[in-house]
Amino acid sequence: MKDMKDLGFETRCVHGAYKAGSAGPQNLPIVQSTTYRYYNAQDVAELFDLDSPNPMYARLGSPTVDAFEQKMALLEGGTAGMAASSGQAANLISLLNICEAGDHVLSGTNIYGGTYNLFNVTLRKLGIDVEFFDQDMPLEDIVALQRPNTRALFGETLGNPALSVLDLEKFAAAAAQMKVPFIVDNTLATPALCRPIEYGANIVTHSTTKFADGHGTSIGGCVIEGGNFDWTVKNDDGSLKFPSMAAPDESYHGLNFYEKFGDAAFCTRLKAVLIRDLGCTMAPMNAYLTHQGLQTLDVRMERHVKNANAVAEFLSNHPMVDWIIYPGLEGDKYYDLAQKYMPKGAGAVMSFGVKGGRAAGEKFLENLELCSIVVHVGDIHTSVLHPASTTHRQLSEEAQLAAGIDPGLIRLSVGLETPEDIIADLSQALDKVK
Ligand SMILES: *Cc1c(COP(=O)(O)O)cnc(C)c1O
Repeated sequence: MKDMKDLGFETRCVHGAYKAGSAGPQNLPIVQSTTYRYYNAQDVAELFDLDSPNPMYARLGSPTVDAFEQKMALLEGGTAGMAASSGQAANLISLLNICEAGDHVLSGTNIYGGTYNLFNVTLRKLGIDVEFFDQDMPLEDIVALQRPNTRALFGETLGNPALSVLDLEKFAAAAAQMKVPFIVDNTLATPALCRPIEYGANIVTHSTTKFADGHGTSIGGCVIEGGNFDWTVKNDDGSLKFPSMAAPDESYHGLNFYEKFGDAAFCTRLKAVLIRDLGCTMAPMNAYLTHQGLQTLDVRMERHVKNANAVAEFLSNHPMVDWIIYPGLEGDKYYDLAQKYMPKGAGAVMSFGVKGGRAAGEKFLENLELCSIVVHVGDIHTSVLHPASTTHRQLSEEAQLAAGIDPGLIRLSVGLETPEDIIADLSQALDKVK
């Protein structure tokens, strides 16, 4: 049989990476133990020197979490994965792995509200200056934003909730010219619809809370490394641009992560330093449940997309709907980019405005019977939300508009119910707004 990474996507969903031994459990076991037993000091010393991949203490990983990370890496086509306690933690540690106070990061504006706050408020307090820019501007203009202390370029494949499609090849080219990694949050697209590493991304992040889990059971995140970035790149003065990756680390007896771990260096350091120090570990139960969800990712995404297309078609023709944004709809601003990067479908999240603005939007929500009002997307249940009064309420109206949030915007994540039933519910709620 071929190597698991060379098998089809569907096969990797079902079989990667856990494999039962003879008479072993077919399903990934939940290893609910905080610690692991050893019988001599030498074996434990090897763990602390990062000479052994064996488990030691649950903050630093467990067999269940390891299997989940390996599956995520297999699905994204990466060389390694590192789980985190949430999507927020995944994005945070992906930057802290290579940035420190005094560094500069470039980020597209059309990103998740939680990530925007993390970047704009909390990272700023830590001395990391995140500069936001219009992600649709030309390559040269992005590169022109570079500063000597720029350390990463960040964007979301499918912006949540702006639903902008990132031009992955443009971002990869800009990052390559700046000699910094291109980090992309692939939560809303999922590897079933788009694998950014194939277009030159270096690091992929996820909130696995959404489609990866898919059943609304577990908060979680993951960082996947492409194994395609040279961490020895230098600044103009000849010093290392990424000393955390390619210079000796004093907390590990002078170990050089890139030299020792090569194309798994980024994730190894995430675990050995950031998960160790910050403690944002994924719990084994959450890893198990999310792994369970990933086994059906491909079939679920296919159906999510089919239902979303039907719902988008209905909404776009409805007299009470002012506007709709769904990159899978012909005529959408991002339709061509979606066709290019997500030929199997532009995901299942869309946004639209009900005629009558904010008040009408709220009335529409109140009249829904089947669709659920929840702070969530990527679930088997069709989910709706009004971002201006919920997820993005901490942002000023100006910042909301910059992130693509109109005050009357309704975000809809189309689930796996019978499409006619979803449409009937939306239809009766829209009728009551008139
Ligand atoms: C939800 C989300 C996050 C944050 O993830 P949590 O698991 O809620 O911490 C980050 N990025 C995107 C695109 C998201 O949708």
